[in-house]
Amino acid sequence: MSLDQLAKKRWLTIPSNTRKKVEENVYCGNCGVTTIVNYEVDSSNFRVFLEGYCEKCGSKVMRVVG
Ligand SMILES: [Zn+2]
Repeated sequence: MSLDQLAKKRWLTIPSNTRKKVEENVYCGNCGVTTIVNYEVDSSNFRVFLEGYCEKCGSKVMRVVG
């Protein structure tokens, strides 16, 4: 299993209401706090993070999960 698959698995073990809170609490350089959309779950240095786009302006945003 690749690291990214493990990251995805880790992300999906988080309760969905908590995941939603993380998705809705992402910082965008243009909009401030926003919602991340069309994201992928990635991992780096054993940290899980989301990489996607701002719901409001479409800029690339990311959020470290843990
Ligand atoms: Zn934005």
